[in-house]
Amino acid sequence: MALHHYKKKKYEEDFKNVYANSISKTQLPKSELPEKVSDPQVIKQLICDELFMDGNARQNLATFCTTYIEDEVRELMDLSIDKNMIDKDEYPQTAEIEHRCVSILANLWHSPEKEDTIGCSTTGSSEAAMLGGLALKWQWRKQREAEGKATNNPNIVCGPVQICWHKFARYFDVEIREVPLTSDNLCMQPGQLKDYCDENTIGVVATLGSTFTGVYEPVQGLAKALDVIQNEKGWDIPIHVDGASGAFIAPFIQKDIKWDFSISRVKSINASGHKFGMAPLGVGWIIWRTIDDLPKELIFNVDYLGGQLPTFALNFSRPAGQIIAQYYKFLYLGRQGYTAIQESCASTAQYLGEQLRKIDSLKILYDGHGGIPAVCYSLKDENTTGFSLYDLSDRLKMHGWQIASYPLPSNRENITVQRILIRHGVSRDMIFLLLRDLCKELEHLKNNPVLNSSEKISFHH
Ligand SMILES: *Cc1c(COP(=O)(O)O)cnc(C)c1O
Repeated sequence: MALHHYKKKKYEEDFKNVYANSISKTQLPKSELPEKVSDPQVIKQLICDELFMDGNARQNLATFCTTYIEDEVRELMDLSIDKNMIDKDEYPQTAEIEHRCVSILANLWHSPEKEDTIGCSTTGSSEAAMLGGLALKWQWRKQREAEGKATNNPNIVCGPVQICWHKFARYFDVEIREVPLTSDNLCMQPGQLKDYCDENTIGVVATLGSTFTGVYEPVQGLAKALDVIQNEKGWDIPIHVDGASGAFIAPFIQKDIKWDFSISRVKSINASGHKFGMAPLGVGWIIWRTIDDLPKELIFNVDYLGGQLPTFALNFSRPAGQIIAQYYKFLYLGRQGYTAIQESCASTAQYLGEQLRKIDSLKILYDGHGGIPAVCYSLKDENTTGFSLYDLSDRLKMHGWQIASYPLPSNRENITVQRILIRHGVSRDMIFLLLRDLCKELEHLKNNPVLNSSEKISFHH
């Protein structure tokens, strides 16, 4: 047989094609484990195909999280896919890298103990918030016990917070006192604290970069108001800064704002590495001002991995790649890179704010100045436009844009807002395209009012 004939025959015998495979002619199992093994390549391809139905992450302007990922990060993530960050004895260099990240952040946020401060990585700001809240609760209880006072009624005071603080309060049995919005303010005001704090207040959470609007809460003003309260009542109430976004922005482009450990009342800070820290999804950070701000009782010593290793976390096993990628980002970008990127995001957000201001039907609540790179707006007159921002979100989805609509927190729940986040990888050109689609859809909705334009519940990050 001639060689080319042999080859042809062999090809036919070996002919494999994902879409000619018997698996691809059926529905994939949805509730039961299949009995038999299958071809991994076929299965992988079919799952990839299903994932096409998901939104396009880069067009998701509702998320704060990293969606632009360079090859170097992918390679580092791949390299560390089998590393468990909890095995600090087996992976001492990974543990060392986590420690370096903690020191870098402690320095960036002006901890008086810098390299010797205490902190750790987490799965995100939510876990970090739980740890921060727990430390406040323990510190408060120790103090109360020492004074022979009751410890059964702790509360935490905050402005409009991200859902993680509501979780903290419920899971760990702390009353949450969410200070309502007054007049045109978009966050908690220092003057409001005296009406919400008391001897059972374990701490005040100040948000640097409100989830709802993007504005920063005035940490320094809040600290001063707590100084006054301490002078009058004797309650020494600590501040935890939820800097999920802002803690990676303010140190680079808003150096004039005082919000971090340079204020002595700030005892702990959390941030999401996977938001403006630009690490891939799955890493957050919490740092305490000094070692004494984290109660020893919360630290567990693990000896069954070899060695004696202190840990403070809700999770145990966790991938190390995100932490390694965070370190890579720190070293690669440095102050200069972080500054350049955050500046560019802020200027794009401010440009978008200017353009939206020109649109008659919109009322701009936050135009990208002074807080995180984002804009937030409502409809000027929700009741007469004949459509809601939810309808606009729906129309924009047809172009692939994900833009969240949701009500403001109390006492402004009657106002529906929309928020657009500008993060690394959202270019000026993308914003031109978005503005084109947004104007077109606003025009469409004006000409085709929606009957029973109904409010929907939306989930925001
Ligand atoms: C995103 C966010 C959180 C939750 O952070 P995750 O990293 O998503 O767990 C908490 N607080 C604020 C202010 C946030 O923006």
